[in-house]
Amino acid sequence: MTAATEMVWLGADRFDEHRVEMPELWPGEVLVRVLVAGVCGSDRHTVLGHRDAPCPSVLGHESVGEIVAIGSPGRDAPAPTDVGGGDLQVGDRVVWSVTVACGQCDRCRAGVTAKCRHLRKVGHERADSGWPLSGGYASHMLLPVGTAITRVPDRLGNRAASLASCAGGTAVAALEVATRMLGRADLSGLEVLVVGAGALGTIATAGAVALGGQVAVCDLSDERLRTAGRFGARVHEPGSATAGCFDVALEFSGTPSGVHSGLAGLRLGGVLVMVGAVSPIGEVAVDPEHVVRDHLTITGVHNYEPRHLVRAVELLARDPLWEELVEAPLPLARLHDALLEPAADSRTLRRSVAAVTRG
Ligand SMILES: [Zn+2]
Ligand SMILES: [Zn+2]
Repeated sequence: MTAATEMVWLGADRFDEHRVEMPELWPGEVLVRVLVAGVCGSDRHTVLGHRDAPCPSVLGHESVGEIVAIGSPGRDAPAPTDVGGGDLQVGDRVVWSVTVACGQCDRCRAGVTAKCRHLRKVGHERADSGWPLSGGYASHMLLPVGTAITRVPDRLGNRAASLASCAGGTAVAALEVATRMLGRADLSGLEVLVVGAGALGTIATAGAVALGGQVAVCDLSDERLRTAGRFGARVHEPGSATAGCFDVALEFSGTPSGVHSGLAGLRLGGVLVMVGAVSPIGEVAVDPEHVVRDHLTITGVHNYEPRHLVRAVELLARDPLWEELVEAPLPLARLHDALLEPAADSRTLRRSVAAVTRG
């Protein structure tokens, strides 16, 4: 097999294209050819210096790929399977979780693999961590034992599928937390506020509508509000007369004003799920009387479980619109532009790269 190519991040906005030998696979490991790697906002924040990240490393954690090799199963590592059910074969088109859990620690055993005590993350590991090909901004990736992998149906294109592994899984996890806190199986008849209509917020919008919710969205971008509208959301103006009428608020903006809008929007028994604040945003004032008198719940979601990845793929496959919301991939060598230049089409939610671009 030929060598792989990866874009090693050297800090700030510096990248170096490396050729690396294909690693030999241990039992149960999976080697994929990366078909499309999306540019998640958190990678942009990393490159702009807004958040700490291991360096040097290969970034990129929102990808879709094709299995090119599977390590022969061994005594301690059975053949890898699709977390949605079934076997995995060479040639399968798949997406995989951001997180790689140990499966052994108390948190994994309790079903919270998202917060495994020995968690490793795709696109977040130092180059010398002992995990070769650990990021999506590469021609190939090695998926260690413990990575949740699921197949992508034919009707879901590569660009849309790439959304599943970070934004999709996380948005679905946030919706599950909201329904669980409300003691409900779905959101039928409930008012849902989505704060921030980037990829996460837009997928959450589609997911909440699919669960029967009445969804309102707030965002600073009219373009994004229009896109959310195509998935069934109406526009919400923070501070308007309709404030205080929501059963669920999903916060994806990661800003103090977004958290404030979400909390202020809740009515009796409401649930605020915070997702966007994955780096320090400062403190946000909470009105304890509002929380007490209105029986509010405030909670958060970080990472997700394998079932959320499967559900994200199902959700994205329901609507062909997702494919056009991820910009056609730039060549991998133009990663710098994909991360730092604005998208050519402001209607897209994501830029992307691919080692081999077609069309
Ligand atoms: Zn991400
Ligand atoms: Zn664990």
